[in-house]
Amino acid sequence: MKQDPGCIFCKIVSGAIPCAKVLEDESSLAFLDIGPLARGHVLLIPKEHHETADRMPASLAAAVLKHLPALVRAVQAVTGCQGVNVLQNNGRVAHQVVPHVHFHVIPRNPGDEFHFNWPAGAYPPGEPDALAKAIREKVA
Ligand code: AMP
Ligand code: ZN
Repeated sequence: MKQDPGCIFCKIVSGAIPCAKVLEDESSLAFLDIGPLARGHVLLIPKEHHETADRMPASLAAAVLKHLPALVRAVQAVTGCQGVNVLQNNGRVAHQVVPHVHFHVIPRNPGDEFHFNWPAGAYPPGEPDALAKAIREKVA
């Protein structure tokens, strides 16, 4: 399994650094975020070291993300939150601080402290078709 000895999440996977574990199988680990944005903020990670989502094998992404429904249900049941944000910061510019891919499950309640700046834009006529076509051809 690919590991990075300098990576804090690889150290959690190996047991060198402790965590408050909530889920584990052969490919995945979930534990409480040490700096929670809300009580019950969980991180779901692959045990194997991959820096960003685009570098993960698809099979590993499937093996990790299959836990998402049960994990969200458990966080909602235990914390009583009304919803969650599932967030993956991909790359430094996207606020990724730990370079080992991870999925945040962040409990949300009305009036909580977590806010997005969500500056929704609009496309000029014709651009969505061309843009979707370009991405469709690339993603295949
Ligand atoms: P990101 O900005 O998406 O890279 O988020 C990294 C997250 O990892 C932050 O929310 C940190 O609080 C969390 N974190 C860093 N070190 C630890 C640790 N030792 N145990 C649990 N969570 C951690
Ligand atoms: Zn790592």
